Amino acid sequence: MRTHHDLKNTLEAIDGRGYKAYKDLRGSYRFENFTLAVDHVQGDPFATPSRLRVELAHEVSQLPDWARSSKTRRVALADYLIRSFARAVRATVKGNRGSGKGGRIEIDTPHQEVIERSAARIHPNRIELRFFAGLPAFGRRVAGREALAMLLEEIPRLVERALLFENLNPDELRRQIETVEDAEHLRALLAERGAVAFVADGALLPRLSGADDRPMEAADALPFESPPELRVTVTLPNRGIVTGMELRRGVTLIVGGGYHGKSTLLRALERGVYNHVPGDGRELVITTAGAYKIRAEDGRSVERTCITPFIANLPRGGDTDAFRSQDASGSTSQAANIIEALEAGAGTLLIDEDTSATNFMIRDHRMQELIAAKQEPITPFVDKVRQLFDELGVSTVLVLGGSGDYFDVADEVIAMEEYRPRRVTDEARVIADRIRTERRSEGGREFGRRTARSPLPKSLDPSKGRHDAKTKSYGVSEIAFGRHSIDLQAVEQIVDSSQTRALADALLYARSIMDGERTVAEILHAVELAVEEGGLDVLSDRRPADLARFRPLELAAALNRLRTLRVNQTRAGGG
Ligand code: ADP
Ligand code: MG
Repeated sequence: MRTHHDLKNTLEAIDGRGYKAYKDLRGSYRFENFTLAVDHVQGDPFATPSRLRVELAHEVSQLPDWARSSKTRRVALADYLIRSFARAVRATVKGNRGSGKGGRIEIDTPHQEVIERSAARIHPNRIELRFFAGLPAFGRRVAGREALAMLLEEIPRLVERALLFENLNPDELRRQIETVEDAEHLRALLAERGAVAFVADGALLPRLSGADDRPMEAADALPFESPPELRVTVTLPNRGIVTGMELRRGVTLIVGGGYHGKSTLLRALERGVYNHVPGDGRELVITTAGAYKIRAEDGRSVERTCITPFIANLPRGGDTDAFRSQDASGSTSQAANIIEALEAGAGTLLIDEDTSATNFMIRDHRMQELIAAKQEPITPFVDKVRQLFDELGVSTVLVLGGSGDYFDVADEVIAMEEYRPRRVTDEARVIADRIRTERRSEGGREFGRRTARSPLPKSLDPSKGRHDAKTKSYGVSEIAFGRHSIDLQAVEQIVDSSQTRALADALLYARSIMDGERTVAEILHAVELAVEEGGLDVLSDRRPADLARFRPLELAAALNRLRTLRVNQTRAGGG
């Protein structure tokens, strides 16, 4: 392998030459303590910075065994090292060198969640860290001396400062690992306990703002306090005994006056499928992995989805067994979102009235009298939510302050009062007995027909101009798939643009295993298995430095929002 001396020689040789000469740097170089690899060289000083990789043996970093003794710990450690590297960059990198993005060093820095990322991976014998560096230029000429300072001085200093155990804060690292491990443990515990969510006493749910996911200032926020009847005690491997509110499987209703914290609770549950960093406030707000937010999303496309359980007899004979639309309504989009979520394996649905179609959620007695069932294609959710659980084992947590019709079908009713939850299940039952709604349940005794769908690979065309496969993501909520754009704004549990980038790659991967026979569920399973076994690298042949793990549910969401998607409805999926 070449050494840092070779790197130095090359840089001196190409100094002052055209920017393309930087391509000579590609490859790996042995430094005293680590290996530096140049995986990709940017085309010009203004392009996306070049991709670099550092590999450092545990013998050198002296990272202790306890920090990497399980997959969960390794993910938490990797996340910690990325943040540590980002901190070191902020503290020491001077930034601009010459023109364009020269001199910049960037790493795919996480937010409040701790998610598996391609930016760092803990191997059995070494750490691998990937990041971006803008190779310096004057005009469009190689700035050799600046590059030398960057690659041979700055980066070794960063490695030392950010990755050597002796330069880390061991208590902070331990706290991070223990926090993530407790969260992961608690999520596994939920399944054993027959629960779908846990919110620890003392948790801090509200955020700084709608656009800032960090916790609200402690002085302003009321810590969570569980209702005594729903309070349980769990024992975690690190924190030990913890108390909190447990939401059990079944149908849970969250009611209460406007502005009393209902949506804040539900949003924390949505994010509870992720683990959070220490200090986030939601470290022990945990939801089962299969919990999926459902909302109305008018305007989205839907491809041959059997929405008959919710919607049948559309005017002009629209086929709801294979419903297809390029512009679904509020209610049909919400129905499709549920059916697709079931197809993708969702075990719990999270629904907020704020983002639901009213006519999908409720249809009261008076309206039933005025508009005969025959004239109303929609079977409201209130008539399906029990069947979802009793027949399919799918739980629902529902925020609904506006209709008591759900009292009849709820297992548990929780009222939010000035940000405090109170169990009002018994009161709700008494009221439901005293004031009968007189409404007739609609939509039959069973949940209804379900079909499986098999995507046609030809319908996913990622080509664009002369490129035969081009996907790209913009921020958290848009993927450009060839000439087509996938809008993910309503897929609220995608929390990181690196997940969106990974989804863009995963769609191509998924396409490669589609054959018109394999069902959506089978394809999602295959992709998940590949990523679980081979890491995010399996999604790309370019050693990606900025991908983050996503759930099969979000991959399904991206696929289902591709407007060109075509499927065969193949085998019956049950029902
Ligand atoms: P609802 O859905 O019941 O109308 P929200 O959940 O939207 O209410 O909350 C209303 C406001 O109260 C939000 O601005 C939110 O940040 C704030 N809030 C929610 N929970 C808390 C809390 N525990 N402490 C302080 N403020 C809170
Ligand atoms: Mg609300």
